[in-house]
Amino acid sequence: MTAAIIDGKVVGAKVRAAVAADVAAWVAAGNRQPGLATVLVGDDPASAVYVASKRKACVEAGIADLHQHLPGDSSQEAVVELIQQLAADPAVSGILLQLPVPKQMHGSELTALIPAKKDVDGLTPVSAGLLALGVPGLRPCTPSGVIELLDHHGVQIEGAEAVVVGRSDLVGKPVAQMLLQRSATVTIAHSRTRDLEGVCSRADILVAAVGVPRLLGAGHVKAGAVVIDVGINRTDAGLVGDVDFEAVSAVASLITPVPGGVGPMTIAMLLRNTLIAAELQAQ
Ligand code: NAP
Repeated sequence: MTAAIIDGKVVGAKVRAAVAADVAAWVAAGNRQPGLATVLVGDDPASAVYVASKRKACVEAGIADLHQHLPGDSSQEAVVELIQQLAADPAVSGILLQLPVPKQMHGSELTALIPAKKDVDGLTPVSAGLLALGVPGLRPCTPSGVIELLDHHGVQIEGAEAVVVGRSDLVGKPVAQMLLQRSATVTIAHSRTRDLEGVCSRADILVAAVGVPRLLGAGHVKAGAVVIDVGINRTDAGLVGDVDFEAVSAVASLITPVPGGVGPMTIAMLLRNTLIAAELQAQ
C-alpha cells in the first residue's frame, strides 16, 4: 500500500477561505467586525515571525488586526494591565499572548487572565476544563487542525482505535480529549510507555506529537492506518516530523507530510476560533 497524502496546505486554505466568507456574512448581517489582539512582549525573532504571520492571515480573512507590542523589559504588572484592558474592550474578540514571554514574567499566570470567551488559543485552565468536561468552548488550534484534517478526509473517528503519542497540554492531551469526545477509543502514549511499537500498532488513527525526529517507523503502524504527524523537528536534513515518512507511507492508508501537513492548520483554526469568539461575545 502507498499512503495518500493529507495536504494541510489545501485543507488550511479551504478553512481560511470559509472563515473569510463567514466573517463577511457576519459583518454584512450588522455585527461588529471580529478583532484579534496578538500580544508580543519583547523582540524574540521566532515569536515576531509567528505573530506577523498570524496578523497577516487575520487581515486576509477580514478580521481586524489589533496587535499590541510591549518592550521586553516591561513588568508583569504592565502585561496584566494590558490583558485586562483587552479583556474589557468590546472591539477585541480574541486575545493571543505569544509565548514564551521574557523570563522576568510568568507566562502561565498571564495566559490565565484571558477570559475563556476570548481565549482563541484555547490554552487557559478554564478552556482546558471545558474541553475535559466536553462543554462547548474554544479549543486549542493545533489539535483542532488534526480533527479538521481527519474530517476533511472522511476518516471515521467514532469507534476507531486512536493512539496519541505525547501528553503535552498544548497538543497530546487536548487532541486525545477531542478524539474521545468524538467517541474514538483513545490511548495516550508517552516517554514511559512500555512497548511503544505494540501500543502504536493497534491504532486505526495514530497521532504523533513528540518532538523526536522520525521516532515512529513502519513497525509502529498497522496496515491501512491513518497517520497524523504533528512533530516539527529541525535537523541537518531540514524539517522532519516524528514519523519516518518514507517507511510509514508504505504501510499507512493516509499520512500527513512534514512540512505541509498539520503545520498550515494551526493559523487556519486560530482564525476560525476568532470568529467563534466574536459569536460567543455577541450572545
Ligand atoms: P512536548 O511538550 O515536548 O511534549 C512531548 C511529548 O512527547 C511528551 O508527552 C513526552 O513524554 C513525549 N515523548 C518524548 N519522547 C518520547 C519517546 N521517546 N517516546 C514516547 N513519547 C515521548 O512537545 P509538544 O509541545 O507537544 O510538541 C510536540 C511536537 O509537535 C514538537 O515537534 C512540536 O514542534 C510540534 N508542534 C507542532 C505544531 C504545529 O504543527 N503547528 C504545534 C505545536 C507543536 P513525557 O510527558 O513522558 O515527557
